[in-house]
Amino acid sequence: MIDFLFPPTCPICGGSVDLCGALCDDCWGYFDWIDGPHCKCCGYPFPDDYDIGDALCPVCAAGKNELECMRAACVYDDMSRSVMLPFKHGGRIKYAHFMSHAMIWALRDIDIAPDLVMPVPLANRRLFHRGYNQATLLSREISRVYGAPIDFNSVRRKYRPNMGHKTHAQRFEHIRGVFNVAHPERVRGKKILLVDDVMTSGATFAELSRVLRRAGAAEIYGVVFCRVVRTN
Ligand SMILES: [Zn+2]
Ligand SMILES: [Zn+2]
Repeated sequence: MIDFLFPPTCPICGGSVDLCGALCDDCWGYFDWIDGPHCKCCGYPFPDDYDIGDALCPVCAAGKNELECMRAACVYDDMSRSVMLPFKHGGRIKYAHFMSHAMIWALRDIDIAPDLVMPVPLANRRLFHRGYNQATLLSREISRVYGAPIDFNSVRRKYRPNMGHKTHAQRFEHIRGVFNVAHPERVRGKKILLVDDVMTSGATFAELSRVLRRAGAAEIYGVVFCRVVRTN
């Protein structure tokens, strides 16, 4: 009845769709979904013809990945940027539905049973200005599907002004010490799934993972909607 009165529409183009919140086939097709061979640890996409089973990317092979494993639904490009920016800064929270479903799909080949789903915290000052944490919006459906509660406030984040374009090393330097585990008793011994909208250098996940492990967390996983993939 509701569908009859308000037929579901694609949140991007407004075309008609079967399922409320889902993308139409055309819009779905514009994204570069990570659906081919990828690093079994961090999900980094390999070329389509690169099919040698359980392979690791050079970063994970060198043991430089802080997380047990992580996945991204799609590649950060013009298309994903065109939904990420309005989602993050323009109040387009209706995108959360298809984005979080794509993230659940991205986790399909890893067997995890998280105790907690943790959106990457925003500093209070940013939360106040933006009105919402986009990572929390993405966490809701993920939390429901995994049957694990969302942890909003065990970790606090200090405000640090954005410094624009930074090198890989500068990003790691800039984020160091920004997170503080306010409630270590809530994370001790827990398997935690971190959630964010985008991964650039991986510095945010690495630093959050570092402080959570120091507070006694058992296993750390991560999922993002899109990730930067080097194209050289
Ligand atoms: Zn559409
Ligand atoms: Zn990897």
